[in-house]
Amino acid sequence: MKKLTVLGATGSIGASTLDVVARHPDRFEVAALTGNSRADLLYEQCLRHRPRYAVVGAEGAAALAARLRGAGLATEVLADPQALEFVAALPEVDTVMAAIVGAAGLMPTLAAVRAGKRVLLANKEALVMAGALFMAAVKAHGATLLPIDSEHNAVFQSLPANYAGDPAAAGIRHVVLTASGGPFRSVPLERFATVTPAEACAHPNWSMGRKISVDSATLMNKGLEVIEAHWLFDLAPDQIEVVVHPQSVIHSLVQYVDGSVIAELGNPDMRTPIAHALAWPERIAAGVAPLDLPGLARLDFERPDGTRFPCLALAYRALREGGNAATVLNAANEVAVAAFLAGKLPFPGIAAVIAATLDAVPGAKLPDLAAILAVDAAARRIASDQLVRRQP
Ligand code: NAD
Ligand code: MG
Repeated sequence: MKKLTVLGATGSIGASTLDVVARHPDRFEVAALTGNSRADLLYEQCLRHRPRYAVVGAEGAAALAARLRGAGLATEVLADPQALEFVAALPEVDTVMAAIVGAAGLMPTLAAVRAGKRVLLANKEALVMAGALFMAAVKAHGATLLPIDSEHNAVFQSLPANYAGDPAAAGIRHVVLTASGGPFRSVPLERFATVTPAEACAHPNWSMGRKISVDSATLMNKGLEVIEAHWLFDLAPDQIEVVVHPQSVIHSLVQYVDGSVIAELGNPDMRTPIAHALAWPERIAAGVAPLDLPGLARLDFERPDGTRFPCLALAYRALREGGNAATVLNAANEVAVAAFLAGKLPFPGIAAVIAATLDAVPGAKLPDLAAILAVDAAARRIASDQLVRRQP
């Protein structure tokens, strides 16, 4: 029986995780669930999975605790600032799903890593903002890091089983990350200034949280994933190619020096990578329909359009610059996306704010966590100043 903590249980990835878990009561037991705001959903999830702990934002804690007691559950409700890190490192837990969105997930995910857990990483922002320190902690504490992002999970499945972070030794020429192109792939560029948050969040293939949906619309999601692939698989920037593939059936590919290309395919449903990582190296059912190739009939590919999607080049720039640049990129993106979702920044302003913030923060090395958090905070301030100048 594996014991699980699900960080960000009330989100899209969290809910898909619990869906897979519920299919295998003989394999998985839930020790802790966390959710920031949706206390009603967290309550329902607690009824279903009966965790020992539930972590929620301070406002909702007393009411949730009373409801759970009323329902006869012994679940303890925690809301103190250290609660997320506490449930990420519980001694009885072996597997932690890291599915909080954004920089808020860094400390709890790191806590799981430092406790040597099997960490299922959906929270790509944690790796982007703190890549070197994060990967060093994985090594130092013997954690097992398994990618949940569909592209990285596909790459993981397409690499040799004994891949040890040396692409040349493994005969790898390069890795291809596929991108759906998002909802604005073929929307006329003149319309970009007036596209709405609702349009940006209406993804053609995937149903996801609002932040990653906007990231998919700008292609910054793919940019963050390029940086994520660099850290997960020890790939140089020019060993990571992005190809737009609107059907999202090929989740990513590895090209080898002998011309072989190994890919992972499937219906676009996050329960596949989640089930893969939950059970790895075994395989379990995920509730995902089998792929119907004749039903698909065709698969399309194109190069990403740099004029439409400047965020992708900004991410490559940050990766090449190294040091604090990816931390700045991530922080500025979070600020800009939140402003766009709040109706305070036009869509093209997202890339503009990120570029201006990257220009404004001088490059520096990041020796430790304190330095990372300081750069994150400074970049957020600068990005917020940029917003004031770009009000629609
Ligand atoms: P979501 O917005 O649906 O859920 C986010 C979760 O994080 C919620 O449970 C929320 O309560 C919690 N949360 C948010 N802010 C918090 C805070 N300050 N403190 C504590 N908890 C907080 O997001 P999602 O789509 O599930 O994405 C989660 C992560 O997984 C993101 O990093 C995203 O990039 C990544 N991811 C998602 C998908 C997908 O299909 N949804 C695919 C690949 C990667
Ligand atoms: Mg992805």
